Amino acid sequence: MCGIVGYVGAKKAGSVLIEGLKRLEYRGYDSAGICVQHEGRLHIKKSPGRISLLEEKLAGENGIASGTVGIAHTRWATHGEPNEVNAHPHTDSKGRIALAHNGIIENYVTLKQFLQSKGRQFVSQTDTEVLTQLIGEFYDTGVRPLERAVQAALREVTGTYGIVVMSADEPDKIVAARKGSPMIIGVGKDEYVIASDASAIIEHTANVVYFNDNEMAVVSRQGLRTMTIDNVPLTKEVQQVEFTLEQIAKGGYEHFMLKEICEQPEVLRQTLSGRLDLRDMRVVLGGLGGVMRELVKTKRLILTGCGTAWHAGLVGEYIFESLARIPTEVEYGSELRYRNPIIEDGTTVIAISQSGETADTLAAVRETKEKGALTLGVINVVGSTIARETDAGVYLHAGPEIGVASTKAFTCQVAVETMIALMLGRRRYMAQERMEFYLDALSQIPDQVATVLKQTDAIRDIARKYVEYGNWLFLGRGYNYPIALEGALKLKEISYIHSEGMPAAEMKHGPIALIHEGMPVVFIAPKGPIYDKICSNIEEVRARKGRVIVVATEGDDKINRLAEHVIRVPDAPPALQPLLTVVPLQLLAYHAAVARGCNVDKPRNLAKSVTVE
Ligand code: GLU
Repeated sequence: MCGIVGYVGAKKAGSVLIEGLKRLEYRGYDSAGICVQHEGRLHIKKSPGRISLLEEKLAGENGIASGTVGIAHTRWATHGEPNEVNAHPHTDSKGRIALAHNGIIENYVTLKQFLQSKGRQFVSQTDTEVLTQLIGEFYDTGVRPLERAVQAALREVTGTYGIVVMSADEPDKIVAARKGSPMIIGVGKDEYVIASDASAIIEHTANVVYFNDNEMAVVSRQGLRTMTIDNVPLTKEVQQVEFTLEQIAKGGYEHFMLKEICEQPEVLRQTLSGRLDLRDMRVVLGGLGGVMRELVKTKRLILTGCGTAWHAGLVGEYIFESLARIPTEVEYGSELRYRNPIIEDGTTVIAISQSGETADTLAAVRETKEKGALTLGVINVVGSTIARETDAGVYLHAGPEIGVASTKAFTCQVAVETMIALMLGRRRYMAQERMEFYLDALSQIPDQVATVLKQTDAIRDIARKYVEYGNWLFLGRGYNYPIALEGALKLKEISYIHSEGMPAAEMKHGPIALIHEGMPVVFIAPKGPIYDKICSNIEEVRARKGRVIVVATEGDDKINRLAEHVIRVPDAPPALQPLLTVVPLQLLAYHAAVARGCNVDKPRNLAKSVTVE
């Protein structure tokens, strides 16, 4: 999920690789490492924290300073804390093969057991070391050269990867492969730069070869050979990179926020992968294994978080009560910590936080843990404080989120809650048939999100049309009530337009007084059991001349008569609708902020990770 650089050429690899890592720094990472071949040995240095810390450690490392072939990595931990041992590159037991990896090896537990039975010892907690040792295992049993051992290992692996691999026995050669994680090779004069992102390449050359899934390359001083992972030779075209560094950093998007909104199909796939077992039709959440017996017996759930994560908690309240039949409440971290909460036997607290460092949420975890609750984390940043202090948890695997306004972390939080609820529901009361219905629907969500994203131009036009109105309302019911709150929060935090979200039926108890000619009112009204009720609420707004924008289900023609603008989402069971209906609201807020010339990625007065009370 983070960054890879590799170099084969005449220059000193150490400095090329460090420069490359610095180019990748904008993506966010937790640790970094480098490996350079020199005189038949692999010289490795790794460090948690910034690239400059790694650089400091390189002083006096002659092997790294002198070699001309090497690989380097910035890590965004998914398996194991971000410390020196878990940083990449990893090696096999003999230290003769080194590998850097982006992505997740889903079947690493099974492979690790197999390798341990062969006598291989592991030093890290990563999935990546397992792949490295597997390549080593094939290599040592005679599967050579290196690319053949890599192919043999990749045939055994499920998951996603962009990898670069070297062997001390095969000087001046790097093997690169990809599936689900990007990989590009820059072709310079007598040199090659391999990277997960063109920003690490373009200071060397604009000539690049892009790789597709299941393709690989053998890069050496003799040249570049390309083939499929099944060893079918490929002819790849050399293309010109057309982006500037600035554009590449944002993946070609104008802002990180837009990039993060648009990568939701991909990151949701990553969040669900290896966890939705569609063969045996069950949910597998390794991070909860140790507490499962206690968790299944939970009598009461308290979900806690702040801001967008609190909204994810509100969606969770609906999901856990309906899918797992567990009484659930949601509490702001800042309130829970001082409320002297009653924690009875069988209470489980789920802390939701992108960064895992949110001070109020952390304090709520400490308070409730002290009082005897089982605590779980739903966190993006591996090894963060909340992740460490909770009894167990499920990581989001959403990759680094750089835009201050949270988008992809929110949808991944909701997806993780849904998986936990389904797993508990199935163990408590849910029939297998119902489980299969939900698993099937959940597995379609990433593609359905991609469909919603196609409407970005139409949503931009709506945003532009109403951007001068100073007050907006967002209304939804049931599962989509928290989405109304989230839509309003997104709009106010990045465009500074005052907006409120509330349950649609609550409007008539007070806020309806605000509605006047021309006020934009956004309804989240997909098909479902309370669809007709919300149509009545829309009528109430129309009667007072509000301007109605509706998020509705594809094919719902009845709504056209009621709304000035309709944004479509694919049909989904009500419990899964928030994963779709939030996406147009993220885009609406984004385009409104752009139209008003706001600093989208760094809104005024806000910080990405709120580590103060
Ligand atoms: N899953 C690997 C790890 O946790 C790779 C993470 C990354 O993509 O940076 O080490």
